Amino acid sequence: TLVGRPVCVTGLGVSGPPMARALHGLGAAVTLVDGRDDAAAAAAAEALRAEGIAVELGADAPPAGTDLVVTSPGWRPDSPLLVAAQQAGVEVIGDVELAWRLKPADQVWLAVTGTNGKTTTVRMLEAMLRADGRDALAVGNVGTPAIDAVRPAPGAAAPAVLAVELSSFQLHWSSSLRPHAATVLNVAPDHLDWHGGLDPYAEAKGRVFARGTIRVVNTADEWSRRLADGGDPAAPMVGCTLTAPRPGELGVVEGLLVDRAFVADPANTAEELAALADVRPAAPHNVANALAAAALARSVGVAPEAVRAGLAAFAPEPHRIAHVATVGGVGYVDDSKATNPHAAAASLSAFDSVVWVAGGLLKGADVTDLVRTAAPRLRGAVLLGRDRDQLRAALAEHAPGVPVADIEDTGPDAMAAVVAAAARLAVPGDTVLLAPAAASMDMFTNYNVRGDAFTEAVRWLDR
Ligand code: ADP
Repeated sequence: TLVGRPVCVTGLGVSGPPMARALHGLGAAVTLVDGRDDAAAAAAAEALRAEGIAVELGADAPPAGTDLVVTSPGWRPDSPLLVAAQQAGVEVIGDVELAWRLKPADQVWLAVTGTNGKTTTVRMLEAMLRADGRDALAVGNVGTPAIDAVRPAPGAAAPAVLAVELSSFQLHWSSSLRPHAATVLNVAPDHLDWHGGLDPYAEAKGRVFARGTIRVVNTADEWSRRLADGGDPAAPMVGCTLTAPRPGELGVVEGLLVDRAFVADPANTAEELAALADVRPAAPHNVANALAAAALARSVGVAPEAVRAGLAAFAPEPHRIAHVATVGGVGYVDDSKATNPHAAAASLSAFDSVVWVAGGLLKGADVTDLVRTAAPRLRGAVLLGRDRDQLRAALAEHAPGVPVADIEDTGPDAMAAVVAAAARLAVPGDTVLLAPAAASMDMFTNYNVRGDAFTEAVRWLDR
């Protein structure tokens, strides 16, 4: 029971206040803490205090007597407060674990994790579930905090099915989560700075395959296979492949997405789900996302027609392989969300002849493989941001002869210079692709702002 229990919630962001309210409503003695202590924080704190919730600003340890810490998704596990809590032997759980513990018993969870493609996949899944007439909601990392989907406003009903996007942070802080079905889309180096290496990072993702959880596997990804193998051997395993599926798999046959897993007789029948052309943006990695979403949807009995209708209704997210304009026969594509080499590699493989716009904060990632694989498709490259040197060196070694424009400007007009340089390198039929393989914070507030700057600069070119 939570009644009277001293619980500390971290973070005055998107998830913290609704979690504090939910716990307060259940009778816990809640203190919300945040390291910030500015005017905006003070105003948010005032609103919560008026509801009877204690707030401590500028704190770097939980209040004395705390016996449970519930942390917001944005808080790094090595933040002082969480370290202090763990050293004191206090249980720490994440927002998703809290939501799991408080959810209605009959609410079904379908979970998606992986390095890249999570948001796209949960949105596709939500669309498929809705096309099947289910009361479904995508929650997690972006959009609705999970707590709001398990304890809706008074008078509203909780959705029957959740498509839950899970970051490795959120899985790190989960212990009892047991989704009906789950997938690890892929695992590639990212956020290794705090996980302390690829293995712990991957291990955190593997927790999504809990006891009884149906395992949806990307058969092309070694980590996806390995983590699924570590799941419950008694739970079904469903492979997804971009080639012809074997019994028990979903895959692609003659331009169609087909299901040989959730059918009466996998040995002899395949159910047609959708056409490749229904998958937008059209790129191989995105077909993998669509298949994973389809497998999760089919695991709760969604009809084949609803898979197709869902894909048709799905609106691709901005800054993810978004076509901006065609100028002088050259296509301009914004994939600002490609913030790591694995995402950039997927993006580059979707185009034949590319002027590649790359650079920013590489977060310690190695770009050698990326450049080597991409080299045959490159018409040219335009480099921007702080870690240009590494990219330039990799291009010189693994893509000799590919012309490179180096944009030293990191100011507000840099993107105009980037696009102008790209336009000079491109010939009709080429694609200028912003797929930076790097984070944006050296020059922009976030990847959205970077993508908007690119889009704006292309529009100018088009005038
Ligand atoms: P996430 O929520 O995991 O960050 P998104 O759906 O927002 O994933 O996509 C992030 C970026 O990763 C996109 O810009 C796209 O280029 C790339 N991407 C999407 N799906 C995949 C995939 N299955 N494999 C590799 N890269 C992908």
